[in-house]
Formats: sequence, C-alpha cells, structure tokens
Amino acid sequence: LDDRQFREAMGKFATGVTVVATEVDGNIHGMTANAFMSVSLNPKLVVVSIAEKAQMLEKIKQSGTFSVNILAADQQEVSMIFAGQLKNHQEVVFEHLNGVPVLSNASAQISCEVSAAHVEGDHTLFIGKVTDIRIEDAEPLIYYSGKYRRLAED
Ligand code: FAD
Ligand code: NAD
Repeated sequence: LDDRQFREAMGKFATGVTVVATEVDGNIHGMTANAFMSVSLNPKLVVVSIAEKAQMLEKIKQSGTFSVNILAADQQEVSMIFAGQLKNHQEVVFEHLNGVPVLSNASAQISCEVSAAHVEGDHTLFIGKVTDIRIEDAEPLIYYSGKYRRLAED
C-alpha cells in the first residue's frame, strides 16, 4: 500500500471542513482540519486529529483548549488560509466563546477543553469536552477528492 493510494481512498470520504483554533499567550493560531468527528453525547465529546508536524500540536498541548469551527459554503478562502495555501490574505477576525477563539461566520462554533490526547502513528487525537456551542443557519463547505464542493440544490 502506498501513500498515494491511501490518500486517494480517504479522499473518497466526503467531509465538511473545519478550522481548529486555539490561543497561547494572547496569540491565536488556526489550522484547517477535516479529521473531525462527534464522539459522545453524554458527556458531549468530539475528536480532532492533528499531525505531529503541525504547529497546532504544541499550541493545543499548551492551552488545553481549542475550538472547532465548521465552515460555511462561502468560507473556502478561510479554509485555504488556515491550510497555508493562501498567502498575503486579509486579517482574519476571531471572536471568543467561553474564552476560546472562534471564527466569525462559521456555521457552527464549538469550544472545547482537552479531556484526553492519544498519540496514534504520526497524528495526535485530541478528545475535546464541549463547553459551549453557537450555531448559524448556513450551507456547509464540502471537501471531496482533494476539491471543495457545495451541496447541490434539489
Ligand atoms: P501553519 O502552517 O503555520 O499555519 C496554517 C496557516 O494558517 C498559515 O498560513 C498561517 O499564516 C495561518 N494562520 C494561523 N493562525 C492565523 C491567524 N491567527 N490569523 C491569520 N492566519 C493565521 N492537518 C491535520 O493535521 N489534520 C487534519 O485533519 C487536516 N485536515 C485538512 C483538511 C483540508 C481540507 C486541508 C486543505 C488540509 C488539512 N490539514 C490537516 C493540513 C493542515 O491544514 C496544514 O498542514 C496546515 O498548514 C498545518 O498548520 P500548522 O498548525 O502547522 O500551522
Ligand atoms: P490528499 O488528496 O492527499 O488527501 C485526501 C485525504 O487523505 C484527506 O482528506 C485525508 O482524509 C487523507 N490524508 C491526506 N493527508 C493525510 C495525512 N498526512 N494524514 C492522514 N490522512 C491524510 O490531500 P489534499 O486533500 O490535497 O490535502 C492538502 C494537504 O492537506 C495535503 O498536504 C494533505 O496531507 C493535508 N491533509 C492532511 C490531513 C490530515 O493530516 N489528517 C487531512 C487532509 C489533508
């Protein structure tokens, strides 16, 4: 099995797109992530998978908190900014939810406290205990086979 084949197969799984954000010493850091899942309803837990090479890894370890911002259909540019694919972009405005930075205009903002961290291969799975939620009525941004998509109208 080679890396290309693995990525191609995983890319068949259509996902939403999130930006994970955290704050250390007043500095906000964001990172685009599609490895996100709802884990448990009672208690309310989610998981994000962060690569060992990502700057985000140490930042979440330090802060012990993060947010997951589910991107709306019109936020492809935001996704590209936080994946390091767009330079010279405009400043990104963050709000706060329960003391954690969250992205304006996301379709859902979810603030979390790290309840566990599991190192698995070249990623760390952070289990987040959900501390607050804000929801907006917006269509989702979709990611499939390495491309951004939108839901088709009926
Ligand atoms: P950097 O690469 O240094 O930062 C990311 C970018 O965000 C930089 O361009 C930086 O300038 C910008 N940025 C950060 N904070 C701010 C701020 N406050 N204001 C303005 N700009 C800021 N990787 C994973 O580990 N897990 C995943 O689930 C995952 N899913 C992905 C899904 C998609 C659709 C894509 C395109 C990429 C995904 N990646 C994932 C890869 C990951 O997004 C990139 O490797 C990313 O560059 C890693 O970020 P970093 O923390 O190393 O920080
Ligand atoms: P791609 O076509 O290589 O990825 C397709 C799918 O493969 C992704 O949606 C993801 O499910 C999986 N994948 C890709 N890289 C991975 C990694 N390093 N670890 C675990 N799973 C991985 O790439 P793309 O969709 O063009 O993404 C652009 C960039 O973002 C690439 O550098 C890619 O490695 C990175 N990315 C990383 C992850 C991740 O770390 N979980 C997820 C998506 C994208």
